[in-house]
Amino acid sequence: MATKYSRRTFLKATGAVTAGVAAVSAMPEKFLSWAEEAGQKEMKQIPTFCELCFWNCGLIAKVENKKVVKVDGNPLSLRGRGRLCGRGNAALGALYDTDRLKFPLINTGKRGEPVWKRATWDEAFSLIAKKMSTIKEKYGAGALAFIYHGTGSSFWKHLLHAYGVTTFAAPSFAQCRGPRDIGFVLTYGADVGSPEYYDFSKSKYIVLFGSHLGENAHNSQVQDIVKGFSSGAKMTVVDPRLSNIASKADHWLPIKPATDLALLLAWIRIIIEEGLYDKEYIAKYATGFDELRAAVQQYTPVWAEAETTISSDVIVEIAHEMAQCAPNVCIGAGRYTTWYGDDTQRSRAIAILNALLGSWGREGGYFFPTGAKVPEYPGLPAYPHPAAELPKLDEAYPFALLQTTTSIKQTTISEKPYPIKGWFVYGSNLMKTMPDKQETIKALKNLDLVVAIDTMPVDFINYADVVLPECTYMERYDEFAVGKFKGMSEISIRQPAIEPLFESKPSWWMTKELGTKLGLSDFFPWKDGEEYLSKRCEAGGIDFAELKREGVIIKKGGNPYITADAQPEFGTPSGKIELYSKQLAEKGLDPVPQYTRHPVAPPGYFRLLFGRAPLHTFSRTTNNFMLTDLQKENYLWINAKEGKKMGLKDGEYVMLLNQDGVTANGRIKIKLTQRLRNDAVYMNHGFGVHSLGMSLANGQGIADDDLITHHAIDPIMGGTAMRGNFVKIVKGA
Ligand code: SF4
Repeated sequence: MATKYSRRTFLKATGAVTAGVAAVSAMPEKFLSWAEEAGQKEMKQIPTFCELCFWNCGLIAKVENKKVVKVDGNPLSLRGRGRLCGRGNAALGALYDTDRLKFPLINTGKRGEPVWKRATWDEAFSLIAKKMSTIKEKYGAGALAFIYHGTGSSFWKHLLHAYGVTTFAAPSFAQCRGPRDIGFVLTYGADVGSPEYYDFSKSKYIVLFGSHLGENAHNSQVQDIVKGFSSGAKMTVVDPRLSNIASKADHWLPIKPATDLALLLAWIRIIIEEGLYDKEYIAKYATGFDELRAAVQQYTPVWAEAETTISSDVIVEIAHEMAQCAPNVCIGAGRYTTWYGDDTQRSRAIAILNALLGSWGREGGYFFPTGAKVPEYPGLPAYPHPAAELPKLDEAYPFALLQTTTSIKQTTISEKPYPIKGWFVYGSNLMKTMPDKQETIKALKNLDLVVAIDTMPVDFINYADVVLPECTYMERYDEFAVGKFKGMSEISIRQPAIEPLFESKPSWWMTKELGTKLGLSDFFPWKDGEEYLSKRCEAGGIDFAELKREGVIIKKGGNPYITADAQPEFGTPSGKIELYSKQLAEKGLDPVPQYTRHPVAPPGYFRLLFGRAPLHTFSRTTNNFMLTDLQKENYLWINAKEGKKMGLKDGEYVMLLNQDGVTANGRIKIKLTQRLRNDAVYMNHGFGVHSLGMSLANGQGIADDDLITHHAIDPIMGGTAMRGNFVKIVKGA
């Protein structure tokens, strides 16, 4: 099947004639006739936004004869500025994937060994409603939980809130960016946003830790960093791997894995002890300088060299370079930050270093964003609060400011402090997102109801009782995307380019129908998704017709930098930047980050590192025929010298065994490279899909998640650190 249509042919063809004809070669046969019918007719252009990653770039869908034949970037979009990345350009691959979930499914077999029965929407909703009522009667609505990722989740949150549910968690917190957000909130009383408030285009110096920028194609951010380079910005990238962004840097520091905090603490000490910090800024806006200074005395450059393997001369040189460019310096906070278990403290160290350089609220550092708001739908009833008396699930993690999937999983297994008996899972392939698959399966087996809402039959679907097929982002009205930017805010609309294919439906429809069955119709007064959005715009004085026509509405205003007239406010208890955190001290946690040495790989093993593939968004796109054509499996990067010592050859398949004797399901190709240290191996996350329904992705490559049987938990916010696993290479696969 995959060989009949190819991304390469598609790309070649797009250079010629109309996009409608060009896209034909990229489509499965079944859709070929549609595009042929489309011919040269006039195109409709529907602005909407991308969901192939969370960046949500504005796009314009070109539609002929009810078929989407091409997508282009929307030039008005602040997130994309008229451009789409490789994945965004593969929208047709998501829309016209013949493996899509097409109708509701009920599992008549076991969880993990499903036997699917095709169901009507009414059958599926009746079964879910019945099980929800039974759970609510027996345990209360607090026994239901919602785990989600993606734009349409807001409709499900609304339905479940209306039903009395209070447990909601996104893996993007405890499995991804939570530590960096909490580290900055503890320091500045504010997080770094998404898209992040980096002022890269004006930076004179940029420092990134373990970043996949460029490989993760955060569209406008990549454009900003390129602008920064063209204006002469210098950059240092700290990473055991020469990532794509490291290859553009002035300095690549191939740090020994798990020692980043040592380097940061040494830099903090140098900046303080050599008097290179912004004295006026610190005196005016920060508190706890003396305590910070005392707490970092032992972290000398020579000490840091022994920990990190980076020469003390280089450590000092880069500290000087940063200081020379201050305050126009941006030390990036990162995104995927759940690494070793002390991740919030590492993030605190990054926040503190930025503060010493005076970069928060300064040109080229972190800007203050301009916000926007779309009011809630007017006149809705208040949510019930039946579970207000329930104990807090994340009690053990005092700064879990959002609920964590970690606690939901643990509570589901232990039934303490109260039972959780039903999971709704939206757009999250939990088998690949959460560490310790066996523990996840144990939790799933303890549930009375598992509902999965998705567009594709990803691995997790096989553990659901009921599967609800959502239509893709090209076929639905959805929640607004509201973005904060420098001196501007943006409201984007998602609207259907075509009607939903097969029997798939949008979330606004599913939740309204299920809500009605549950006796909650008062919470769903809108006729359809369009009315839901238009009434909210009306309530906020937002021109809905303009939004539909342009795709985005942009408002200018706000001051991005500190000026004499615009002084910053810090949402910390002291109202200042907290270099020493009394909040942490009161909870028995280090008020200033302190270094902990982490375990190293046992002899014969390598630390397992993983990250982004430039043309995939993890398992969300590994079945996309336009992208599998370019990368269908992952590779095991290994230092070329080390690999040759072991007799490994480029392209040879191997198997992997971890420190607990667990073997990954499948085999992976070796990539010998000089772009990696000799104590780690690296692979792209999202491959090694094990789901028969994903015909192009199933069994391609290895899943790092098979090998993550060990994880540390961040004591501050409950994040699950997943870079503490080690693997051995087994030849002869
Ligand atoms: Fe889509 Fe790429 Fe933008 Fe992500 S960065 S929203 S995948 S175009």
